[in-house]
Amino acid sequence: MPNPAAPLPPAPAPAPTPSASDRPRSCPACSGPIDPDPRFTAWCPACEWNLVPAEEAAEECARSAKEQARERAAAERTERLFEEVVAGRGDITRRDWLAASAFAVPVHAVTVAVAGAAAWLLVTGNTPLRCLGALLLAVAFLLRPRLGRVPSGTGVLSRAEAPALYGLTDRVAAGLGAPPVGVIRVTEDFNASMGVVGLRRTSVLTIGLPLWEALDDQQRVALLGHELAHRVNGDNRRGLWLGSAMGALAHWYDLSRPRERAQGGYGVVALLSLIGDYIGNAFLRLVSQLPYRAYLLLDRLTARAGQQAEYKADEFGARVASTEAAGGMLETLLLGPATGTVTMRLRAEIQSRPRSGRRDAAPGPDVTALWPQLRAHLAAIPPLERERLLRRSRKDGHTVDASHPPTHLRLALLGRRTPLPAAVTCAPDEATAIAVELAPHGTRVARVLLAG
Ligand SMILES: [Zn+2]
Ligand SMILES: [Zn+2]
Repeated sequence: MPNPAAPLPPAPAPAPTPSASDRPRSCPACSGPIDPDPRFTAWCPACEWNLVPAEEAAEECARSAKEQARERAAAERTERLFEEVVAGRGDITRRDWLAASAFAVPVHAVTVAVAGAAAWLLVTGNTPLRCLGALLLAVAFLLRPRLGRVPSGTGVLSRAEAPALYGLTDRVAAGLGAPPVGVIRVTEDFNASMGVVGLRRTSVLTIGLPLWEALDDQQRVALLGHELAHRVNGDNRRGLWLGSAMGALAHWYDLSRPRERAQGGYGVVALLSLIGDYIGNAFLRLVSQLPYRAYLLLDRLTARAGQQAEYKADEFGARVASTEAAGGMLETLLLGPATGTVTMRLRAEIQSRPRSGRRDAAPGPDVTALWPQLRAHLAAIPPLERERLLRRSRKDGHTVDASHPPTHLRLALLGRRTPLPAAVTCAPDEATAIAVELAPHGTRVARVLLAG
């Protein structure tokens, strides 16, 4: 995705839960015991029967042979990179960065050439040429690299509003040797990200509240450590040169791609309009292929180095928050679908509540019940279901998001390193102060999630 912030990978789709009546008691494949808990997918840890439920497996089989071969090749590349990272080989990805940086030269050169031609025509040309220069200047303005804007408004926390959260973030940044964060904002995603925006390159830390609420205090330090490490892990995708080149290509594609237009009317005019649209769209389809292919190439060139940067960010997270907390944070990423389950359940409860105003109306749950219910639900997920989700990540993680390594490999890397103690800890009173600062946002985000 053309997102310089490169969020944590999306969690896999929730698995359907069979009812207690159709749940097998033993594995149909190897007769091994099946966990009787009807809330979770029935599967066999011995032979991995139903690790991927049948309907999802059918979807996987329906993919073309070409697609499957591409995914196998991506999986092999990912495994190879993992071994290189474990062995501490950084020279290969350095070459990737260099190649990508060189490829960004013609991208920026296009914008500079158009702007230069516009300026030359405006200064030296006669009236018609000046008109052409003005047109080119408008084109250069459209093509300009997008640096992003510093967010403001809903969800943005100032240092005065959230001194405890900024204080903890500053201590994590200092522990990593990273500059302090510019702006923190909270969103309703099960996600977190770090971006750098604007001409002044302001760092923006985005914290998705559902993920934040799912973590314990020290795992939150690990999350902050991972995100802030993106300022010091040599991740050039977020840099001015590469980040703006990728942003420009994504924008050029968006500008040039054909748009669907509502057709209406009858007769010769409508027919001519239809033919015109058809020819125009065919031309745009051809033109838009250029930025699209260039974006894919740049993405491919930076994917390996980007994944290495993610592993590095995980190691930084472990260094600052402890290996145990960093591992716990990564395991929680696998539980994303559970937040959807809790949200749907609470939404149904609130909707079925008797209308207030009735004298006999029993007090029902309100939106603020979302976070305690989410924490209780996650805490109740048994080890066997956590194991299933981890093995699922091993099976399909390679195809989830090329910008991030699969979660099981990120965990495996931490397991290959010497376990580290925490360098920064979040004291209980500090955690309480942060919870108070985030409380209004928690209510707002819960309201958004429960309305959806
Ligand atoms: Zn079995
Ligand atoms: Zn990251």
